[in-house]
Amino acid sequence: MSSTKTIGIIGGGQLGQMMAISAIYMGHKVITLDPASDCPSSRVSEVIAAPYDDVDALRQLADCCDVLTYEFENVDADGLDAVIKDGQLPQGTELLRISQNRIFEKDFLSNKAQVTVAPYKVVTSSLDLEDIDLSKNYVLKTATGGYDGHGQKVITSAEDLEEANALANSAECVLEEFVNFDLEISVIVSGNGKDVTVFPVQENIHRNNILSKTIVPARISDRLADRAKAIAVKIAEQLNLSGTLCVEMFATADDIIVNEIAPRPHNSGHYSIEACDFSQFDTHILGVLGAPLPAINLHEPAVMLNILGQHVEAAERYVTENPSAHLHMYGKLEAKHNRKMGHVTLFSNEPDNVVEFGKGIDF
Ligand code: AMP
Repeated sequence: MSSTKTIGIIGGGQLGQMMAISAIYMGHKVITLDPASDCPSSRVSEVIAAPYDDVDALRQLADCCDVLTYEFENVDADGLDAVIKDGQLPQGTELLRISQNRIFEKDFLSNKAQVTVAPYKVVTSSLDLEDIDLSKNYVLKTATGGYDGHGQKVITSAEDLEEANALANSAECVLEEFVNFDLEISVIVSGNGKDVTVFPVQENIHRNNILSKTIVPARISDRLADRAKAIAVKIAEQLNLSGTLCVEMFATADDIIVNEIAPRPHNSGHYSIEACDFSQFDTHILGVLGAPLPAINLHEPAVMLNILGQHVEAAERYVTENPSAHLHMYGKLEAKHNRKMGHVTLFSNEPDNVVEFGKGIDF
């Protein structure tokens, strides 16, 4: 059997594009399914232009590919189940279903993987909010469809209940206790169905709920870093993981609390392209192909800065002044406000001196 495969990627944004680039380096061919024929992946792969829930298009993709993968979790799991052949989607649709719904996700994390999550309860209507203890703070999150802070309401007093009740009556939710974390961190882990490999711990700084800066290694104790990595490995092993997964966590003074998982390469892992000997995209491709996985080494401490639509000019100036910064632009045609257009990775031991593009401008 040829070692050259045809890999079908559902979603042709920047994550799909960077997966495709890794796959192409390894000699594989990539076909992407994306509603936009000029999506970022169109620069590096063939594109089947169709909606993600178009079962005929999914079938067309499945028919011409050896292996399928996805760049984001809101893929139609039933549609995929209807078209995939045995073993064609190594990540499986179960992982998709877990990460599409916070109720399944919390249940998986706390009961199956047995890792620590913030105390939570399932909320099916505002009645479930009637008896909450308002001496504590909470975050109410819709079970499905939320991202980057959308579909969420922080509850710190009775005044927040009107909006929280409306959210609870509009959709199934989970109510989590608010975690007073020191840092937000994440760990990338990749599996090949048997073994896993884990990346260094990433420290993430968000602005307006959008990732702005990632610092690696995260500025936490070795003990907490080892614990964070062990948690990511435990989750991956529980899933018999194939491909790359990102585990987002909160680091408190003495504990690590898991927030959520993303069953794909993640924005906070982009630094790995230059700063590690294998990137999260390389190990994703190796993992979904069931190939042996390398141990990961960080060459040097690194910082990644996101470039949003409103930062493009500042980023262009920055790389002219700092030619050792690695610029990635995803090839998106329109620079909309808050749209992720690219990122920059640089090596630095002084992450506080690496200033985010938007800082002082639009935040
Ligand atoms: P999420 O959509 O779950 O990633 O949440 C978006 C952001 O809200 C996170 O990056 C945190 O900054 C914040 N957040 C979410 N859940 C909690 C929590 N239980 N306690 C404190 N902050 C939270």
